[in-house]
Amino acid sequence: MTADFRYFYQKNWAERTAIVAQQAHLTPAEQALFKQYYLPQHHEIIENYLTDYPLPMGLAVNLVVDGVDHIVPMVTEEPSVIAAASNGAKIVKRAGGFTTVLNQREMIGQIVLEQLSDPAATAAVIEAHAAALLKVADAAHPSLKKRGGGARRLRTRILGQGYLSIDLFVDVQAAMGANMLNSMLEAVAKAIGVMTKQDALMSILSNYATASLVKAVCDIPVGLLQAGRYAGKLVAQKIASASTVAQLDPYRATTHNKGIMNGIDAVAIASGNDWRALESGAHAYAVKDGQYRGMSTWTSDGRMLHGELELPLPVGIVGGSIKINELAQLNQRILGIQTAGDLERIMVAIGLAQNLAALRALVTTGIQQGHMHLQLKSLAMAAGATPEELPVILQRLELASQQDLATTQQLIAELRQ
Ligand code: NDP
Repeated sequence: MTADFRYFYQKNWAERTAIVAQQAHLTPAEQALFKQYYLPQHHEIIENYLTDYPLPMGLAVNLVVDGVDHIVPMVTEEPSVIAAASNGAKIVKRAGGFTTVLNQREMIGQIVLEQLSDPAATAAVIEAHAAALLKVADAAHPSLKKRGGGARRLRTRILGQGYLSIDLFVDVQAAMGANMLNSMLEAVAKAIGVMTKQDALMSILSNYATASLVKAVCDIPVGLLQAGRYAGKLVAQKIASASTVAQLDPYRATTHNKGIMNGIDAVAIASGNDWRALESGAHAYAVKDGQYRGMSTWTSDGRMLHGELELPLPVGIVGGSIKINELAQLNQRILGIQTAGDLERIMVAIGLAQNLAALRALVTTGIQQGHMHLQLKSLAMAAGATPEELPVILQRLELASQQDLATTQQLIAELRQ
């Protein structure tokens, strides 16, 4: 029988879970999972709320940013992300830590006009009234100005085919700013409508946050990079080569960048930030010169390895779901941050630490050796090993000729005989 999902959003929680249980033929034990992870206040965050979906949270250690030691809460389901971040950070810590640069923290929003017969003339009218339009923007969210933020400037860009983008730059203070900016944009769009007799096609912030760039750099004496039989100087040279490949080849760049975002997303989630917004902005920035490239660069002169990573990271320490997520607030205390800028600096440094550890492993022992222990642990748990059985199963798995689910299940069965 197919369950009735009409007016699902109007049902209460018990009704919703009953409908889902009917549709998916859930056993009582399966239905109990909804209850196990249920948090009543989360009805206020999303629509059609059923339950929470738990993800592991751990701590990366050894991260030194601008001379300050941080422990970094990370939420990720991927084994080895936290180990790699801590490992990369440890190498950089021995070299004095990461240095960061953050010059500006403004969000950009767009108002798009269409079907313009003379976009340049419309742009000129709008630019001539820029000061008045900035006032309209501030009046739409006055508390921001009171906090020292607010609309800063306006820019027009002719997009072609009769489209014009009016870009509003706003200092959003401690927030990520999407909702605040969207309210301001809609007010400005109305004023532009009166001024130009043009209705806006849309008004929305841009996630290509090029006015919220943050950069991490590190300089590592090559001796600190030695890995097994690989001398530090050789490792540095190979990391620099890997970096060049990521600049030349989008296939490699995509994976290189995924590794960087492994760390940044995990901190974004732990701090209650919108990781989709960061992902889209970071990847757009990786293709800023027309070709998709590695986000970080590594160079070596034979004595030192120099690493750099610059990204748009418009994060908040207030707003969004942060205000109702106790763990996000607790994690800010664990991070020891006071401002959104502090969080940006930590995130970009974690991205570079993650990247260093991944590249060092890749060009020396290979990625699997480091990953394997953690991957085997996941495999053993997926195969049903209990925490008590894990150590023995892992030992036997490491010696097994095949490391797959069937073999693991077989090993568990043998252990239980
Ligand atoms: P909010 O809408 O929650 O606005 C920020 C809130 O923080 C305001 O209520 C503001 O109060 C309060 N606040 C308290 N102290 C400060 C301070 N020092 N500086 C700034 N604000 C302060 O959040 P955002 O506008 O930041 O929007 C973020 C959310 O928007 C995220 O959840 C994101 O997922 C979502 N979003 C993202 C989009 C995108 O990325 N394209 C699009 C739409 C939404 P007051 O009202 O008094 O000023």
